[in-house]
Amino acid sequence: MAQSPVAGTVMSGEMDKPLISRRLVDSDGSLAEVPKEAPKVGILGSGDFARSLATRLVGSGFSVVVGSRNPKRTAGLFPSLAQVTFQEEAVSSPEVIFVAVFREHYSSLCSLADQLAGKILVDVSNPTEKERLQHRQSNAEYLASLFPACTVVKAFNVISAWALQAGPRDGNRQVLICGDQLEAKHTVSEMARAMGFTPLDMGSLASAREVEAIPLRLLPSWKVPTLLALGLFVCFYAYNFIRDVLQPYIRKDENKFYKMPLSVVNTTLPCVAYVLLSLVYLPGVLAAALQLRRGTKYQRFPDWLDHWLQHRKQIGLLSFFFAMLHALYSFCLPLRRSHRYDLVNLAVKQVLANKSRLWVEEEVWRMEIYLSLGVLALGMLSLLAVTSIPSIANSLNWKEFSFVQSTLGFVALMLSTMHTLTYGWTRAFEENHYKFYLPPTFTLTLLLPCVIILAKGLFLLPCLSHRLTKIRRGWERDGAVKFMLPAGHTQGEKTSHV
Ligand code: NAP
Repeated sequence: MAQSPVAGTVMSGEMDKPLISRRLVDSDGSLAEVPKEAPKVGILGSGDFARSLATRLVGSGFSVVVGSRNPKRTAGLFPSLAQVTFQEEAVSSPEVIFVAVFREHYSSLCSLADQLAGKILVDVSNPTEKERLQHRQSNAEYLASLFPACTVVKAFNVISAWALQAGPRDGNRQVLICGDQLEAKHTVSEMARAMGFTPLDMGSLASAREVEAIPLRLLPSWKVPTLLALGLFVCFYAYNFIRDVLQPYIRKDENKFYKMPLSVVNTTLPCVAYVLLSLVYLPGVLAAALQLRRGTKYQRFPDWLDHWLQHRKQIGLLSFFFAMLHALYSFCLPLRRSHRYDLVNLAVKQVLANKSRLWVEEEVWRMEIYLSLGVLALGMLSLLAVTSIPSIANSLNWKEFSFVQSTLGFVALMLSTMHTLTYGWTRAFEENHYKFYLPPTFTLTLLLPCVIILAKGLFLLPCLSHRLTKIRRGWERDGAVKFMLPAGHTQGEKTSHV
């Protein structure tokens, strides 16, 4: 291309407004006239992707010509400003041609090889999982092998037809671009920018295989945390079921199976949320202990710990999810028919026993404090969840982010621990709460957080905190890096936040 057609364009979120301004701003800030004619772009294929792409390109000020095997049939589906014609005619004048057909049909385009020579072909295709395993060559490399006289650029495959049509107004949409020719990549990047997307250079065409694998992934970083959360849920649910349903049925012949859908679930949810929250902070404690033991930060952590540290955000968000569900389920508890019957039965019992007023001061206080601590813990978790959203996290500097995630996160763990303790109160010491000799569930969940809180407390001791701070600033016990910390240096100034 002689001139990049889209440099310095003004973006708009609306499809109908051209993104290319009639006037461009020169590097010196003065206004310059744009070329009279809109830059021409070709599209091969008239399917879903081609239609959305054409709509977006037309809306961004490009002149679009679509090449179809049957233009008469498909012309009505495209915006009126797009020209729909036969493939041969469509590829004759544009310098950039999008190939919006599936890989298995690439070879049917070989008859166009002469007209396509010297042009930029943009490969937008995505293989299926089966195709990916079947072919060692990426779709883009295969296209390049069929058209050696063209420059192939891989782009736009991570953007769905729907997202193209809607435009990038509802969030940041990156267009991953790779190719062997810098100039061609630049041209496609500028087009993506003009359409309102954010181009991201992924390197040479050899990276196309990696880029093509991205849309096939299903939340890869969530797999282990989700399985962990589900595993915890199943274990705690089974434990609570044995204690709250099975034990009364076997020992007292009481039918409490009605508790399974709501009450047992609600007893399980906070256990999962609480343990998951502890699992966010446990790897940091283990990492610190390991650094103290090794006397250096320059030794790699074991792989399992490395992965665990990297998944803390997902584990934290799942903890928030389970805590939210617990709050919602708790609101539903008084709505249950069984709850109403229990209340009426209690009232009748009171009347029969001739007791006028039921009021246990200790229970009243316990409940008030317990609920208040629960709401505070949930509020804190919400704050952590909100600040983990990329756009918000990006607006915080490292110190602010670390304060919220590390310090406030630990406050959330403390509040949850106090919430659990006030819930349990003296029950851990009462024999009738050990059903089938199984301790109350809250005592089990308290183990891990208490270990973490204790370890964090230990790390605050001057002898350990000073040593840890030195290690995190590069000091090594047996190594060459030895220095004194400046006087008055505190743990708050540490450089690593694992
Ligand atoms: P589609 O609706 O099935 O369209 C494919 C088009 O290929 C047909 O409309 C056809 O147009 C054309 N074609 C050319 N030669 C062909 C041949 N020999 N046999 C059959 N069709 C032929 O598929 P699509 O959803 O638009 O996807 C097109 C490409 O975009 C694929 O490589 C896909 O992986 C990629 N993609 C799609 C999306 C999406 O959201 N749909 C997202 C990212 C990437 P004519 O009949 O007019 O020639």
